Amino acid sequence: ADVPPGYVSAIRAAAQPRLDAPAWVFEGRTAPWAETLDRAARIAGGLQALGVTPGDRVAVLSANSSDYLALYLAVPWAGAVLVPLNSRWNPAENAFALDDCTPGVLFVSDDLVAPNAAMLDEYGDRITRVSLGGDRLGWTPLAQLLAADAVDDAGRNGDDLLAIFYTGGTTGRSKGVMLSHAGFLANTRAMREFGLFPDGCRALVVPPLFHLAAAAVLTMTMLGGSTAVIGKAFDPAGTLDLIAEEGVTDALLVPTMIQMILDAPGFDPARLTEVRTIMYGASPMQEATLDRIMAAAPHIDFVQAYGMTEVSCTATLLGADYHRGEHREAGRHRGAGKPMPIAQIVIADEAGNPLPAGEVGEILVRGAGVMLGYWNQPELTAQTLRGGWMHTGDGGRLDDHGILYVVDRIKDMIVSGGENIYSAEVEGALALHPAVAQVAVIGVPDARWGERVHAVILARTGAEVSEAALVAHCRERIAGYKCPRSIEFRTASLPLSAAGKILKAELRAPHWQGQTRNVG
Ligand code: ATP
Ligand code: MG
Repeated sequence: ADVPPGYVSAIRAAAQPRLDAPAWVFEGRTAPWAETLDRAARIAGGLQALGVTPGDRVAVLSANSSDYLALYLAVPWAGAVLVPLNSRWNPAENAFALDDCTPGVLFVSDDLVAPNAAMLDEYGDRITRVSLGGDRLGWTPLAQLLAADAVDDAGRNGDDLLAIFYTGGTTGRSKGVMLSHAGFLANTRAMREFGLFPDGCRALVVPPLFHLAAAAVLTMTMLGGSTAVIGKAFDPAGTLDLIAEEGVTDALLVPTMIQMILDAPGFDPARLTEVRTIMYGASPMQEATLDRIMAAAPHIDFVQAYGMTEVSCTATLLGADYHRGEHREAGRHRGAGKPMPIAQIVIADEAGNPLPAGEVGEILVRGAGVMLGYWNQPELTAQTLRGGWMHTGDGGRLDDHGILYVVDRIKDMIVSGGENIYSAEVEGALALHPAVAQVAVIGVPDARWGERVHAVILARTGAEVSEAALVAHCRERIAGYKCPRSIEFRTASLPLSAAGKILKAELRAPHWQGQTRNVG
């Protein structure tokens, strides 16, 4: 009991009593746990036959699939470090990540080979490329790895490196986050102890598996010997079909996905009948969206998670209770919840001193889930893990009940005429207008005020709304100095990250050409 279990042994122990139960469903196929574990043990054997040794990185560039699930088991089984790469990156971004994590082996799914082929050819002498689809000249077929003999779990555990996850890339270039076996297990177990993804559930795995939140859902599913209902990618209609046809009981959906489901033509809440719990998070949830989904599916428990790649997923959870009754009347459904038992939170000023309840400062997190550090970035690691606390870069406050309210990313805060304005608060007000489909609020340079509040809006199809009407709408809800001074209307979706986050840095760039923005 003194040796903390490794990722693989924990999942094998959970699956042992359920070897005949389905481990996954994907594109109409399914396989029991027994077969899934055996496949992972053989791929692990194949990796070792390729020369992979403990600590080597093995990268994956793939859309979601049952093979991806197998690699989540097989790579740590071989003792290697899993590096899921963002499937939305362009070849240059992929090359940057490959140079950063220097994997010995790279798995690529069919649809991602063609766009990256020329770039990957340059790595042919350093990286064994394994094709998850058809045969390719100079590549190793997955079948070759599968033909290997099953091997024993390499037995890595505790502080051993389990994976390197690249952050969302919302605020700049993604950073590689080193997560340990013990840290990732502690975090996913704490979420399960909260009641999320219980034993035997049918869990939706649709957010991309290179994103840590999806990895956490997959892991919670495997830690319950449950069934992962895998979707290759999100689209509102297809995801609803998958939920209804496969009897999904538990899901993680990011706010943008929930909004797209609600807005899909002919959305029928009856498709959600078997769903018990929806966990949401990764970006701010608009109140209007939460109200709509809760009204459409009153039988579902909604749970909010706040966290980040650097804490192995989640720091705080807002349980279903806080979404209803008294708590709701008190506005606590707008909070991000309380720290999980494995995490601690303080709100700190710029010097790192704790602030009292009610005051806004930087959210600091510590606990078992916190990363080992950023891969290859000792200085950034030292800056971020200071004084024993992980500095999140998010602004927030705690209330008297110990509930965390995330107010904004510090980089997104607007300082106008010496006042701090939280872009997320202005966005929340604008999103309550029925004509608004998407909104981002950014600071743009202003000769008089330093920065000025600028909103970028996509109106709902068929809806028309004027700048003056939106400003008047805001004035009824938030202080005058927070209301947008200028509004820009778009005719297509705002730029979104793979996790559905609006890329505000991209929206800000044209306004700030040649000027530096002082933030944080
Ligand atoms: P990068 O660090 O590369 O800029 P990222 O911060 O978006 O990208 P992630 O680690 O995936 O990468 O996201 C964590 C961030 O997402 C948090 O720091 C926070 O700003 C935001 N976030 C997560 N959960 C919530 C939530 N429940 N409410 C509001 N914001 C959230
Ligand atoms: Mg971040």
